[in-house]
This record gives sequence, C-alpha cells and structure tokens, in this order.
Amino acid sequence: MSYEALERRLLVSYVNPMNTSSKCSRCGSRLKDNSGRIMRCSRCGFTGDRAVIACINLFHRYLRCRVLGGASELLQAQ
Ligand SMILES: [Zn+2]
Repeated sequence: MSYEALERRLLVSYVNPMNTSSKCSRCGSRLKDNSGRIMRCSRCGFTGDRAVIACINLFHRYLRCRVLGGASELLQAQ
C-alpha cells in the first residue's frame, strides 16, 4: 500500500467529517448555508467553496488528531 493511500485511510478512520463544511476555516464560527456551493462567514467575511472549506477543516482536524494522538479528544469535540 502506498503512503498516500495509508494517509487517506487514516483520514477516513479517524476524522469525523460531520459539520466540516459549515464551519469557518478562519475564525471557526458557523457559516450560513445559502444552499449554494459558496459559503460565507458573517463574522470575518471569509468566503469559499463548501468543498474547499470542508477540505481545509478536515485537514485541520486531522492534524490536531495526529498531534494529540487521541480519538478521545475528537469525541469530546463533537
Ligand atoms: Zn469566519
């Protein structure tokens, strides 16, 4: 198995994708769902494609998960 595939499997196993596309990647506040692809933060003005935002948020969550090495931290955050 390639390293990349292993990374992807880890991501799928450890990161809960719930709500990742509805949180601002910059300030963490809740994004308004305007039922389109583009999400906008009313607090800081951050604007982005929901898929991109979800990706960024997943990446952040994944990094935090790796750093703390804990699923317990993830569970508490839900
Ligand atoms: Zn924001």
